[in-house]
Amino acid sequence: MKNLERYYVNNNSTYNPGYHHEVHTEEHANELNISSKTYLGYYNNCFGAVDKAKEIYRDADGCAICCSMCHKG
Ligand SMILES: [Zn+2]
Repeated sequence: MKNLERYYVNNNSTYNPGYHHEVHTEEHANELNISSKTYLGYYNNCFGAVDKAKEIYRDADGCAICCSMCHKG
């Protein structure tokens, strides 16, 4: 089990092939230099983070790289 991590949702939906608002861990969001993102909170997996993101963006989806368990495409 991973430790708690901070999760963010990208406010820009155009930087991924499916044009979703993608959810990232803080580490991966920083790696990608995402300039406009909304903090979702601490979660110990991506499922809670994606649920939270869906309150903001109905099309929210997990990043294929850092949230692969929650990536639907
Ligand atoms: Zn990611």
